[in-house]
Amino acid sequence: MTVVNLLDFDAEKLAGFFSEIGEKPFRAGQVMKWMHRFGEDNFSNMSDLAKSLREKLGEKAEIRSPGLIRELDAFDGTRKWLLAVDEGNAVETVFIPEANRGTLCISSQVGCALECSFCSTGRQGFNRNLSVAEIIGQLWWANRALGREPGGERIISNVVMMGMGEPLLNFENVVTSLNLMLDDSAYGLSRRRVTVSTSGVIPAMDRLGERCPVALAVSLHAPNDALRDVLVPINKKYPLKELMAACRRYIEHAPRDFVTFEYVMLDGVNDSVSHARELVKLVKDVPSKFNLIPFNPFPHSGYGRSKDPAIEAFKAVLMDSGLVVTTRRTRGDDIDAACGQLAGKVMDRTRRSGAAA
Ligand code: SAH
Ligand code: SF4
Repeated sequence: MTVVNLLDFDAEKLAGFFSEIGEKPFRAGQVMKWMHRFGEDNFSNMSDLAKSLREKLGEKAEIRSPGLIRELDAFDGTRKWLLAVDEGNAVETVFIPEANRGTLCISSQVGCALECSFCSTGRQGFNRNLSVAEIIGQLWWANRALGREPGGERIISNVVMMGMGEPLLNFENVVTSLNLMLDDSAYGLSRRRVTVSTSGVIPAMDRLGERCPVALAVSLHAPNDALRDVLVPINKKYPLKELMAACRRYIEHAPRDFVTFEYVMLDGVNDSVSHARELVKLVKDVPSKFNLIPFNPFPHSGYGRSKDPAIEAFKAVLMDSGLVVTTRRTRGDDIDAACGQLAGKVMDRTRRSGAAA
């Protein structure tokens, strides 16, 4: 008999499982709260369930998140967990505390197939999709590790799918995980505080808008197709004009009335004032905010981080046109927790252990 991992199920699927084992579907709600709200992974501690049910669950099911390999704390309060998803692979989950919110950055795939030229995950190729238990298990783990504020407030108020992988290419598992993040019996996060970041997989953006509209971030990185084809190769399939139209369609469903454009600042590549002017024209019909991300270097990347004055001049052009722009502060520098740095060390470790074997 195969034991099922209950972390793989959202409310609907969990209710289905309870029917299958001859139990009332509403019991699913109780187990959901134990699992996700209280971080319980032992059925025998679920004190409001009949003993017979607890025993049955103990035989047929388990609650298993990825296991901890290593935990790192940065000076600025950023925390990073390296979690094992199977023998050879690990994913990293990063918690970023700020004055008025706590953001967890989670991964959706081991590696990524999209090969953006400035991204260390992309450089390492695609390994596999994460299961629901492996995606939601990152939130489950962090939520348990962080505990709650003294007042009972949740410490994690925001989730961003900006770790390893392209979330929209692991669509079903990501949507099931999003359902759990939003479910009041599970994590009860607001739709506006859960963000999917995509490099622009247009058909999946439309499906996400229909199935589970949450906040959307689009990785733009270039103001024209010629440059974006190089930096974000999926642009050849889904070019900018179509991407802008898809963003406008998404906003019709979205919980926020704008999309966030992410733009990595690469020294001498995409960071001139004329790039900024071109960008203003490109996005003029899309209600949007900009997040400028100073490039985080990694070995042999071939790119450098834009100089501060270049970032300021670029930002000024966007702001003068009326756009709202933030520059992402680099967090967790001392533990390699910044964007695009997540995968590197993990894969190195995997390779080394592979070579040793
Ligand atoms: N695949 C999705 C989400 C994961 S990447 C996407 O591309 O949107 C999350 C963000 O980090 C993206 O905007 C990505 O372009 C950016 N990023 C990747 N490598 C980076 C690096 N080395 N420095 C800064 N940002 C990087
Ligand atoms: Fe994949 Fe995003 Fe990295 Fe591009 S930037 S390779 S889509 S993870």
